[in-house]
Amino acid sequence: MAQYEVVIIGGGPAGLAAGLYASRSGLKSLLVERGIFGGQMVNAVLVENYPGFPEGISGFDLGLLMHQQAIRYGLEAVNAEVTGLVPGQRHRVLTGENDFEAEAVIIATGSEYRKLNVPGEGKMVGRGVSYCATCDGVLFRDREVAVIGGGDTAVADALELSQHCSRVYLVHRRDELRAGEVLRQRAFAEPRIAFIWDSVVEEVAGEEKVRALKLRNVKTNQPSSLEVEGVFVAVGLTPNSQGFAGLVNLSDTGHVVADRLTATSIAGIFAAGDVRQDSARQIVTAAGDGAAAAIAAFKYLRG
Ligand code: FAD
Repeated sequence: MAQYEVVIIGGGPAGLAAGLYASRSGLKSLLVERGIFGGQMVNAVLVENYPGFPEGISGFDLGLLMHQQAIRYGLEAVNAEVTGLVPGQRHRVLTGENDFEAEAVIIATGSEYRKLNVPGEGKMVGRGVSYCATCDGVLFRDREVAVIGGGDTAVADALELSQHCSRVYLVHRRDELRAGEVLRQRAFAEPRIAFIWDSVVEEVAGEEKVRALKLRNVKTNQPSSLEVEGVFVAVGLTPNSQGFAGLVNLSDTGHVVADRLTATSIAGIFAAGDVRQDSARQIVTAAGDGAAAAIAAFKYLRG
């Protein structure tokens, strides 16, 4: 079985930054990624809030650069899905084909936005459908958009979007918001936010770009169409932590619980990025977290 000092699970900004720091500090390091190196950010058409790129940069290019930079300093990276983790004196990282052993493991598996799972949604990602108002809101300046959801994130997104957009429709399947009182009051007081109650999205319509949402009122069963250019889906996030349940401590929401130095409940296992409880869910914070986890792993291994 191949031996490493550090195995990093996940090749988003957290995992790639961890790989850069671990390999630059001389640790024999391996990164295992099941999909595209770069993680969620490869779906970001334009990243305008990662420092160092005043004109912005595509998420795909940023992922490529982070990957190249880490490899340049000696990080080994393979494409495989981690299917199991067996903690021990040396932790075993299992994939369908090869297994690896390491003294330290960094979990950087990120999270996935919950989807509406309606026709048109998938093909319109990056063409009007977004899961991140902080990231993409500014691209819809003076346009009409919809936010789907009724919790804290949806209402906070609607408030943020109301700073850029001419109109924000908040579409919620119930007739009251789940969001906290302060957010609710702020949203009700914002004249650019309009509420569409008791309604679910049945289709995202458009050819090249989003043109409208097809809605259905769940009480009257009446269909309707809402013309918008942007759709922000805010119906929750699922952390990619299922494989670690019962090993490291997870929060109620399924995020990996880690201290401020990224250490989990098991010695030698660290968590970084969106999968970690209380993550700010941004590229810059994920990268910072990855660096912190690699530094913590180095201290753990070399004292
Ligand atoms: P991720 O990027 O989710 O990476 C985790 C990686 O782990 C993935 O590549 C996944 O394939 C891999 N993985 C998961 N499980 C396994 C397994 N079992 N085995 C192997 N590999 C595994 N943030 C910003 O700051 N600015 C923006 O402009 C911005 N725009 C965005 C636009 C979109 C469309 C999206 C979806 C997100 C955007 N974000 C943006 C958020 C940002 O991309 C995330 O906060 C960030 O990517 C989180 O990094 P991460 O490394 O923690 O996780």
